[in-house]
Amino acid sequence: MEAFAVEDLPEIGEGDDLAALVEERVDLRESDVLCVASTVVSKVEGRKADLADFPAGDRARSIAERLESVTGDEKDPRFAQAVLEESEELLTEAPFLLVVTRFGHVTVNAGIDRSNVPGADLLLLPEDPTASARRLSEALGVPVVVTDTSGRPFRYGQRGVVVGWHGLPASRDWRGETDREGREMEATVQSVVDELAAAANLVAGEGDGGTPAVVIRDWTFGDHEGSDNLFRTEADDLVRQALREWEFEG
Ligand code: GDP
Ligand code: MN
Ligand code: MN
Repeated sequence: MEAFAVEDLPEIGEGDDLAALVEERVDLRESDVLCVASTVVSKVEGRKADLADFPAGDRARSIAERLESVTGDEKDPRFAQAVLEESEELLTEAPFLLVVTRFGHVTVNAGIDRSNVPGADLLLLPEDPTASARRLSEALGVPVVVTDTSGRPFRYGQRGVVVGWHGLPASRDWRGETDREGREMEATVQSVVDELAAAANLVAGEGDGGTPAVVIRDWTFGDHEGSDNLFRTEADDLVRQALREWEFEG
């Protein structure tokens, strides 16, 4: 498979036709997958915001105060308010805000970005990235994966993950297939959308590269069962349950 960036995309603004901008620059093939950084999807969807849009309530003020005392850094309670408004649930309030977004993605600060946002303080994630992926996919005629850079437990460093997808299953199910010794696999369900998102993010980079759209070419899902389960349900999510009980001491 090949992964290459769509070159020469301009700074994206609200209402821009992202599908047309991509189509003008690359001849997509039916079997391609287009991966797009959520940053530019958010820009199209008018998700830039200013801290002044989020007057802090009591809860945001107390969260910011606690974060300040824990980290020693100045924390704007309006940022905490923005995170609260973008979240379904806060899993941790200190030493950082780990949340479940309204669409089910678990990430720090509700994925609100402060880099690559000209003319505004903040960039919120798309409200419903899978709906965004569907619109783009229908316009382009290929599957679409919307990515974000996200941290991870257990390891240092960030990587690309999928936040929304359309036109391909989230996972490829290997259960019931056999390994090289003929042993039947019992548990392996491969999150192919996350793997595509990570590959695309590797090409897109994190800084001023200007390459938010990446074409995956000559990759195939193959002859497997698929499923769209990606975000664990509460009942299946032991880590989420454990974090609810956990309290940061420091
Ligand atoms: P995120 O991972 O979705 O939060 O996005 P990043 O801020 O890491 O940006 C991913 C890539 O998109 C980088 O190569 C950025 O330079 C690029 N990028 C971000 N915004 C724009 C834009 O409006 N236009 C273009 N051409 N590139 C952008
Ligand atoms: Mn981001
Ligand atoms: Mn990024």
